[in-house]
Order: sequence, then C-alpha cells, then structure tokens
Amino acid sequence: MSETRPSHFPPGTFLGDHYMVEGLVRLAEGRMFYLVNDERADRPTRRCWTCGFEGSPRAARICHQCGNALAKRRFLVAARWDMANADAYSVFAARRLEHPGVVTPIDLVRMDEQLLSVVPYQGEGLMVDEASPLSNQRVLHIGQRVLGAVAWLAAQGVRVGPVRRSNLLISPDGTVRLFDLDVLEVRSTPVPVADLREVVAELATLLRSYCHVRSGQLTDFLELATKGDFPTVVDLGRAIEGRFDAFAALAFPPTIGAMSDVGLTRQLNEDSWGWVSLDKKAELFVVADGMGGHDGGEVASRLAVDTICRVARENTDRLGAGLDAIENTLNDAFQLANNTIKAEAERKGNDMGTTLVSMLLHNNRQAFIANVGDSRAYLFRDRTLHQVSVDHSFVQKLVDRGRITKEEARNHPQSNILLRTVGTEKDVEIDIFRVELQPGDRVLLCSDGLWGEVEDEDIGSILATYNDPRIAARELVRASHQGGGKDNVTLMIVAVR
Ligand code: CA
Repeated sequence: MSETRPSHFPPGTFLGDHYMVEGLVRLAEGRMFYLVNDERADRPTRRCWTCGFEGSPRAARICHQCGNALAKRRFLVAARWDMANADAYSVFAARRLEHPGVVTPIDLVRMDEQLLSVVPYQGEGLMVDEASPLSNQRVLHIGQRVLGAVAWLAAQGVRVGPVRRSNLLISPDGTVRLFDLDVLEVRSTPVPVADLREVVAELATLLRSYCHVRSGQLTDFLELATKGDFPTVVDLGRAIEGRFDAFAALAFPPTIGAMSDVGLTRQLNEDSWGWVSLDKKAELFVVADGMGGHDGGEVASRLAVDTICRVARENTDRLGAGLDAIENTLNDAFQLANNTIKAEAERKGNDMGTTLVSMLLHNNRQAFIANVGDSRAYLFRDRTLHQVSVDHSFVQKLVDRGRITKEEARNHPQSNILLRTVGTEKDVEIDIFRVELQPGDRVLLCSDGLWGEVEDEDIGSILATYNDPRIAARELVRASHQGGGKDNVTLMIVAVR
C-alpha cells in the first residue's frame, strides 16, 4: 500500500466527464468514499443513464434519443490509490458481469493516480459504519452472500483478493453486496475454488469480528475456517448451510458494542480488539493500540488481543478459585502477551509494542480492569463518566505531580510518550482495578483515538443519549472524526444488566 493517502477531492470537484463531488462520506483503509452527482454546469449537454446518449441539452427533461426522463442522479464513488490491481479491476468492470451479490461499476475514472469506481447510489450504507456484534443470523447471511458471490465470480474467471469490510455495501433493505473488490486476475477460464483459500480464511476472520461475545460456538466454527478446515468457498458455504438454523436460533440482548476505525488521517489501523466468553460466568474484553508502523503496530496489537483471549480461555478453571486467582490469570495473560510480542519484535528486528486495556467481567458484577499504557477504561454510572484506569504516560506523571492540569495534558506536545507498553521490555507491570458493578452501569474501553479527540464530558453525553451500545459505539467513532480523526479509534461498550 502506498505510504500516504492522497488528499481528498473537495466538494464541487469535477470527476471524469460526468460527475461532481458532493462530499467525502467516509474513509477506510485503502479507500475513500464520495457521494457525487451528475450536475455538470460546465457541460452544455447531459448524459442519459438509460441509453448512454450524451447529446441531450443540459436543460432537457427527457432524453432526446430514448425519451426517458432525465433527472439528477447520485452515485457512490470508491477511490483507491494503491494501483497494483487497477488494470485487473478495469478488465473486470469492462465485462459488466451481473450478479445479485455484486455491484459492478457503471463507470471507472482514473484521476490523480487514483482509480475511481462509480456505482449508482440509492441510500446504501457501508459496512465500515457497522459496529459489532451483529446477530448470528446476520453474520451467517453475510457469509453466505459473500461466498456465493466470490464463487460465482471465480466461475466467470474473476479471481478476487480477500474481502474487507470496506468492500461491503448495505442496501436500505439490509442486503449486503460486494463492491470495489480487489480483483487480482480476470481470465477466460474458471478460477479453481481451491485457489481461494486466503479469501475463505480472511472472510472467516471478518465474520468472527461481528460475532457476539457469548456466541462461542459460532466463533469457534469460524475459527476452524480461519485455520483452513473448510478450504474452499464451496466447503465453507456448505458448512454454514448445515449449521445455519442451529446458530441463527441464538439471539442475544443488546448489551455490548465495539468498533474500530482507521480515522481520517492515518493509512493503517494499528488498533485491535477482541472479546471472549470464558465460562457461563465470565467474559473478557480487550482493546489494544499498537505502535511501530507498518508490519509492527497492527501485528503487536493483534498478537496481544489474541494471546490474552487464548490464555484466559485456557485458564478458565482457575476463575472459580477466588478473586486473587482471577487477578493472577489476568496478570499471566498480560505477561504472556508481552513475551510473545517481544519475541516477535526480535524476530522481525523492529520495536513494535502495544497498549492494552482489558476487563474481565465475573458474574456480571465484579469487573477486573487491567491496563498498560494509555488505552483507557471508563465507568459510566448515574449519567457521569469516571475514568477507572490511570495512563502510564509522561503527561499523566506531570498531572500526578501537579505540574500540569488534566486539560493541559491533552494538548501537551509530549502527550504521546508512554512510560509502559506491552512487548517492549522483558517483564511488564500491570495495574488492576476491581470495580463492583451495578445494573445500569456501562464500561467503556477505548484507545486514545477516542479520548484524545473527544472530551470526557462529550463521551458521557453520547453514552447518556444512546442506550444501545452498538449505536453509542458508532456515534463515538463519529465524534472522534468530528474531533479531528487524527488517530485510529477503537472502543468497546459493555452494559451491565
Ligand atoms: Ca493511538
């Protein structure tokens, strides 16, 4: 991927022959999305989108060739700047393949070393705006939809790369379609489905990120797919079909929400998050903010989250041995994550590391909150936000010593200096806070991309306004964008019943 994201086209920019930018609507890793329309004041004539005739006068109400009505049309444009597969995508677009699960662009524009893929806009939403979790039924539906489309494309000779969140378009009726795919190759003979193993594994990982914390069986099933147990799109499709009813019958109340977003200026999202059910009484929630740049930060944060979830799960039997045993389990998991990242950093020869904040929720009442670095845990109780964790940062030390205020710390030039991180030293000291939760409480775990952009008071008022954790999560991500979106943002909300 190219190192820098190009600056975006401002409203009013003309794109290609037919379009004018209304606005940038969303940024994702590797993509920028615009809404555009076909009001081109600079052109004497107007294009008919029914027959393609371009000679009707600007003011005409009907097409002078086919007679269909000419009204302003709106389009969604996905812009990519990594041009590695741009030619293959152009060949794919020119074939105008039609499938209910695939949105084929009506036009492609190359401009400023970007490839702009144009699709009609009818109120669609983007999967990058959806917080986790989705219902089991929805996760499975999306899986089937994507697998069906990818298999069909393969049969047409189109080999696609891994499907990402930014490739999923949601119609107003909830249907998911693939768009602006990474097309690796277009050929005249079918692509063998066995060649799509990576697509299957990546899709399973994507779907897993939308599973509910208590949907352990579906998560485990998808993990098998990630590991290659269902090697082809056909195998995984059949496996989902066979389990659909059993999994889809499980539904969970809206008590959790999580979302991670690249923000408005970064190229890469180096944050990670995860949650896992340990037994019927305990759940673990983790947010990590990696650092170390490409092939560093996102690796460190992912390793940390995966290691902690795995270790905690392997030691579930210790949880019954008392509160100290729970603390020890958390501590051991953090240490193992630390050592795993340190070993990987030495192997790669880089200095990657990560912050970590996690909550082990026991009996839906006792919270054990552990942190390293400046990712935070907050408690929202009685409509007030309380910070639970204490940052291991240089500016926090200045605040503790009374040298600067909390407000000054936020804008301090050295606010990004961390005194402790996971994966950078041989041992890591963690802080653990025990909190007795009450019904109605909400716990927020987040990276500094949230609290650095949104004041605590504003975080509190968003939590007060939106009870559903998924909706609150999306609104908080929006607020971080409005605050500047300078950093990746990841957050998780757990509501206590
Ligand atoms: Ca960060």
